[in-house]
Amino acid sequence: GTRSYSFMLRTKNPCGKVSKELYLAMDDLADQFGIGTLRLTTRQTFQLHGILKQNLKTVMSTIIRNMGSTLGACGDLNRNVLAPAAPLVRKDYLFAQETADNIAALLTPQSGFYYDMWVDGEQIMTSEPPEVVKARNDNSHGTNFPDSPEPIYGTQFLPRKFKIAVTVPTDNSVDLFTNDIGVAVVTDADGEPQGFNIYVGGGMGRTHRVETTFPRLAEPLGYVPKEDILYAVKAIVVTQRENGRRDDRRYSRMKYLISSWGIEKFRSVVEQYYGKKFEPVRELPEWQFKSYLGWHEQGDGSLFCGLHVNNGRIGGIMKKTLREIIEKYNLNVRLTPNQNIILCDIRRSWRRPITTALAQAGLLHPRYVDPLNITAMACPALPLCPLAITEAERGIPDILKRVRAVFEKVGLSYSESIVIRVTGCPNGCARPYMAELGLVGDGPNSYQIWLGGTPNQTSIARCFMNKAKVQDLEKVFEPLFYHWKHKRQSKESFGDFATRVGFEKLQEMVDKWE
Ligand code: SF4
Repeated sequence: GTRSYSFMLRTKNPCGKVSKELYLAMDDLADQFGIGTLRLTTRQTFQLHGILKQNLKTVMSTIIRNMGSTLGACGDLNRNVLAPAAPLVRKDYLFAQETADNIAALLTPQSGFYYDMWVDGEQIMTSEPPEVVKARNDNSHGTNFPDSPEPIYGTQFLPRKFKIAVTVPTDNSVDLFTNDIGVAVVTDADGEPQGFNIYVGGGMGRTHRVETTFPRLAEPLGYVPKEDILYAVKAIVVTQRENGRRDDRRYSRMKYLISSWGIEKFRSVVEQYYGKKFEPVRELPEWQFKSYLGWHEQGDGSLFCGLHVNNGRIGGIMKKTLREIIEKYNLNVRLTPNQNIILCDIRRSWRRPITTALAQAGLLHPRYVDPLNITAMACPALPLCPLAITEAERGIPDILKRVRAVFEKVGLSYSESIVIRVTGCPNGCARPYMAELGLVGDGPNSYQIWLGGTPNQTSIARCFMNKAKVQDLEKVFEPLFYHWKHKRQSKESFGDFATRVGFEKLQEMVDKWE
């Protein structure tokens, strides 16, 4: 037949680090072979939609030669490792980013197949730190397949995709607790990194009408001294490799293993591979959401500037302007887990011309961004994702406008905001189960409504309502926001309000509203 297959391609960029060369290459590829836009993802990567099969090799080799990679961006293995995108020159941030890089390297497939296929076997890999190679090949507690080209993955890889995030205390820009493994740097009083708290068993995906599938928050596993982190991560991955369910993909994420075993048993099995006991997790200060939008000091004399990208979609005037600025000033960029972009390494004298260029394109926060939009996220959904049941990216602008209109109607001020996340199916790519208001597609033009997440992404939402028709959302929003406005405790977030009042009362509020 004459059917042309079209592919979605995703890059891998630990910590969301993207060199100017890679950015410009992706920008070109989107025009030449994609649909003319770049899509930033919730895992700090690029997605290119609409790549035709006959162009795949050209696109892949261009990415690889520009030091990007797509290796391990999809499939049953470790996905892109998250870390705070801020290019802050601070010991804890740098250490978190270095750790993310090392974990990504540790869990990268080792066989040369990938490079054989896309760049005819050319060796493009940069050299790895010796401690990564050592940890990968260490079989002292029976963790490895010694004769396999994949000492950690073997021939079967993992039961399912695997997600890891690394961060520093207070900075929850990475949505730490939604990952299979969440790692937080612990420092001493002088800010010197000493070790890590490790959290395990987070995950978003679920299946409609299957109550035994659920989103789950990661819980504390233990503390490890800094030199042990790669061994601890490997021991966790191996525990999932050996024990995670392979008979039914719906239950194959590590969260189901932990929830069926309980954390005590899980910990003791991991400790056998790790060869040590975990120490109790260290107490950390409260988590916060950090957007990094606007201008900030890097700490090395340079500045960085975070720009909001609606739904992570860079197109039109934004694409053109970003390209011009990045090219002219030779800027590296970082992608955030909230689908935004950070321009890095900006000299002070460039601040004014860059501000002018951004303002002329209408890209300067806060004028062009509603506060609701700052924390909102939607997945690509229709027409790009084959799993989508209903709209998300294309639908969210209108939903945000309608929420803002309801806010105005009930007297909530412009500066009020809540975390809104929308996905086209229960797989939950935009992490809707952590939102204060999560909309999860459950039919054509209908959504489940999830409530009870918090502004700093530390508690999980619960399903409040099924099959809410998109055209009728005000019938639910109005009573909820009205009562939040009038019955909230001082500064109480919408999520905390929903949890405190309880779903039964909230349901009454909705039912009695006319
Ligand atoms: Fe596709 Fe569902 Fe993920 Fe949205 S949440 S991108 S519809 S798989």
